Amino acid sequence: MKRRDFIRGVGSGAIAASGVAATASVQAGRRRYRWKLVTTWPPNFPIFQTGVKQFAKDVRRMSRGAMTINVFAGGELIPALQTFDAVSQGTIEMGHGAAYYWAGKIPAAQFFTAVPFGLNAQGMNAWFYGGGGHELWQALYAPHGLMPFPMGNTGVQMGGWFRKRIDSLADLKGLKMRIPGLGGKVIAKAGVNPVLLSGGEIYTALERGTIDATEWVGPYHDLRLGLYRAAKYYYYPGWHEPGPALELTVNRKVWDDLPKELQLIISTAAMAANLRMLSEFEARNLEALEELTGKHKVDLRAFPDEVLQALRRFTTETLQEEADKDAQFAKIHKAYSQFMTNNNGWRAISEAAYARALAEKS
Ligand code: CA
Repeated sequence: MKRRDFIRGVGSGAIAASGVAATASVQAGRRRYRWKLVTTWPPNFPIFQTGVKQFAKDVRRMSRGAMTINVFAGGELIPALQTFDAVSQGTIEMGHGAAYYWAGKIPAAQFFTAVPFGLNAQGMNAWFYGGGGHELWQALYAPHGLMPFPMGNTGVQMGGWFRKRIDSLADLKGLKMRIPGLGGKVIAKAGVNPVLLSGGEIYTALERGTIDATEWVGPYHDLRLGLYRAAKYYYYPGWHEPGPALELTVNRKVWDDLPKELQLIISTAAMAANLRMLSEFEARNLEALEELTGKHKVDLRAFPDEVLQALRRFTTETLQEEADKDAQFAKIHKAYSQFMTNNNGWRAISEAAYARALAEKS
């Protein structure tokens, strides 16, 4: 596919510079953009794919038709995990996915999705919008010709589905678990054999006992996948993905060539989508959890303290090992840790103290 086919504007190409021109002629003279956006999600995957479609609709309306974004699910135009390369090379203008999918190319990208025992959704947004995180992310992606934006967050995920009870650290030893990324590296230190499987493969693998455990997202998506039929024990919290952020990527060249007004429309619509997706998760997860525990009699359990404490220790080791291997990882790890330390100091007397106060009252 030729890039020109996607970025060619229609109309006269003259951008109206005069604020006094009549609206109709401004419209007639305005360059129109027709872009493609490919995601890493299955078609109609709720909240993620539907949220991206809403974003495209918002951009079209806000730009009064100047920009049309056609959204494609993973596999419809290109394989899901080729999004990064396609947008980087400019064969596609926009992508939506999660930065940690690109850990093989850019290990430090993982900080912009989730870090075990790291920032939650509120912390991630504080880092992105107020703590310099978005600027670090832009610098990391610039050599790859990409402009990133936070766009979506699942909130704290669940720890996962297990076919047997986990009462101690020793119970993890020897288990095969579907768990990607840094979380997989961390839990491997407890003797777990981490396995990578796509969403479509999880249920069958768990049901047949090819794997003993899996993490996926949270109650809303886990219920849809039917995981309660394949494993009885549902553990919390999702220590490995405490507030995973999703990303919008834009090819840097076409981004830089956009009028400022359209750049603002895109960044504002992305921010709106970021908030909307997180809010939908928060609202739908609680209903789904009631259905899992009520109707489907799922055994909901907290990981024992011993397990969480060990995993936290293993996380510190893992992050240090990764930082020793990669200078960019080390640099962003330092900035992230600094922000998180400050954020935790404030959290201790705000959100965390408030959560404790609520727990004590109930
Ligand atoms: Ca997950």
